[in-house]
Amino acid sequence: MPRLSQPRVSADHLDHTRNHPLIGVDHRRRALLQGAGLALAALALGAPRTLRGAMPTPAPVNHDKRSRLILLGTAGGPTPKVDRSAPANAIIIGDAIYVIDCGDGVARQMVKAGLDLGHIRDVFITHQHSDHNADYGNLLLLAWATDLHTRVNTWGPPPLKRMTELFLELNEYDIHIRETDEGRPPLAPLIVPHEITRAGLVMRDDNVKVTAALVQHPPVTPAFAYRFDCPDRSIVFSGDTRPSDNLVELAHGADILVHEVIDLKAIDAVVKDEAMATRLRAHLEAAHTPMSEVGKIAARAGVKTLVLNHFVPGTAHIPDAVWYDAVKAHFKGRVIVGHDLMEL
Ligand SMILES: [Zn+2]
Ligand SMILES: [Zn+2]
Repeated sequence: MPRLSQPRVSADHLDHTRNHPLIGVDHRRRALLQGAGLALAALALGAPRTLRGAMPTPAPVNHDKRSRLILLGTAGGPTPKVDRSAPANAIIIGDAIYVIDCGDGVARQMVKAGLDLGHIRDVFITHQHSDHNADYGNLLLLAWATDLHTRVNTWGPPPLKRMTELFLELNEYDIHIRETDEGRPPLAPLIVPHEITRAGLVMRDDNVKVTAALVQHPPVTPAFAYRFDCPDRSIVFSGDTRPSDNLVELAHGADILVHEVIDLKAIDAVVKDEAMATRLRAHLEAAHTPMSEVGKIAARAGVKTLVLNHFVPGTAHIPDAVWYDAVKAHFKGRVIVGHDLMEL
């Protein structure tokens, strides 16, 4: 099993607090403390380590096949942020880890989440923007320098194979040193990149079936959303996209939709230079999904839970309630404002 170094907070507690409009901006901190206290109490009593709060428990499943979803980084855009790490997520089933996007710092975020880097089985890149791939190679190199010695399949749009080759070449010196000095297995044969150019079935193994849909994120093409059909539930990642019918179809009836979101008004306030603001806004409107649209998409897809992710701007000055209220107005299901290291 992946190692859990610390109790984590179930998102159920956080969502529960958001159902109370009178709870102020400090609600998340209090919910975290409350959740951590409950988690510690539960651990002391020998309860399962992932708390599900007071929500109805789902149908029993083989414990080893129960999926965990961890949001590793929740900020959109390539610039490093203080409060949110770059886009990355993990699904854990049994002792296998599936990583979705590899933004800056993904390896460290995984360690902070208590995950064993040696258990990475597959890596999925939604699209080749640096906020999603900057640490693609680094994740595998650092996992290998930790304890990875099994094959990792990587999946994503071209030029994934060339990127993998060039990364190995870039780090040839260090890799060679560790192979000879530390006796590590050769790294190159462990990484098997697969380029995806069309929608459809991506891979299937003993845990999960992964399906891709083409989404609209100009000028980057192809850009994909991924659906993970796990033994106990289905989880869909929108990747970066403007409102997309293909995504709605992919996410139809899913248990969880992890969807990107932008606040256009906040962007206007942040970017002072007018020419730059006009250009940036044109890109964002063409390539991303405004907060006013995300709830409608979740409603059309008929998902049970909507998790907001890839926040743009990813800075702390926008309270959770702003994101939540904008989305909740259009979606009757459960809405969760994502934060780094949140587990669902
Ligand atoms: Zn992005
Ligand atoms: Zn992007």
